[in-house]
Amino acid sequence: MAMSQHGIDFTDRCVGTILGAAFGDALGAPVEGWTPDAIRNEFGEVRDYVEARLGAGCYTDDTQMLLATGRSLVRCHGVDGAVCASSCAELFDPDRGYGRSATAILNALRDGADYRETATMLFPGGSFGNGAAMRIAPVGLLFEPDDISDLRRDVAEAVRATHTHPEAVDGAFLVAVAVAGLSRMADYRSFDPVERLRQYSSLCHDDQMRARVGLAADLLSKKVKVDDAVVQLGNGVRTIDSVPTALYLAFRYIDDPEQAIIESVGAGGDADTIAAMCGAVVGAMHGAEALPQRWHDGLERGEDGYDALREVAVQLSELIT
Ligand SMILES: [Mg+2]
Repeated sequence: MAMSQHGIDFTDRCVGTILGAAFGDALGAPVEGWTPDAIRNEFGEVRDYVEARLGAGCYTDDTQMLLATGRSLVRCHGVDGAVCASSCAELFDPDRGYGRSATAILNALRDGADYRETATMLFPGGSFGNGAAMRIAPVGLLFEPDDISDLRRDVAEAVRATHTHPEAVDGAFLVAVAVAGLSRMADYRSFDPVERLRQYSSLCHDDQMRARVGLAADLLSKKVKVDDAVVQLGNGVRTIDSVPTALYLAFRYIDDPEQAIIESVGAGGDADTIAAMCGAVVGAMHGAEALPQRWHDGLERGEDGYDALREVAVQLSELIT
């Protein structure tokens, strides 16, 4: 057990970050694209893996890219943009539910394209999508929370092959900042979630992201009903419509990681990605041992399954300790 100077089991926090993302992804995948009402009518709450196209407990593109990113960090002892890109391209399995833009870029990278030129292949200004934020959590694990300017630079480099638009980079940066901070925090009662969201808002370069994260802070401080907050914050694939929602739900249920992930799945829309990002954040705070055993038991096995995710998380923790 690796104890950091913060007096916590940092290895368990790293495993919680990676598995929290995978659990959220696998729980949310079957209801991706559903409305919150449709999910409620069919399942009440999604508390367990349900059967879906890939099978119950199978993860999607979110976790595949997160695993690839994590492995690249272990290989390079930090962020190397070219290796982050090639690692994602190597692991790319089109069956895992990738979007059109990611598919085109990953195929181009496989064909030898330069990762510094691929992000604007389909959109001249770069994608607004949440594909950067969904895979960035491993980068957050490598940083002490006060190294914020270095973290922003490394986040931007880690996602450069697919995302260069400030909205997408802001979203990835905030997920990484949350993981960096919470993975080293002894007790969730030691911070004010509303203040923390306001601070995150101030870190954004993009005006719309700054406003939406600020709205998340307001909704949390006013104790607005979760369903109404999700309507206002959004549940779409755009970064502003999903990262603030995931952070809001993580902080709204910061004392209960299981419920945070269940509520994120219940948000519907891009449910797998919202729950993956929320899962990474609450997993960073609480560690893997705090997440339900049934989610550990039911996640897919195999070469790049549960054990591989644990392994890369432990290797990431060893880069720090
Ligand atoms: Mg997905």
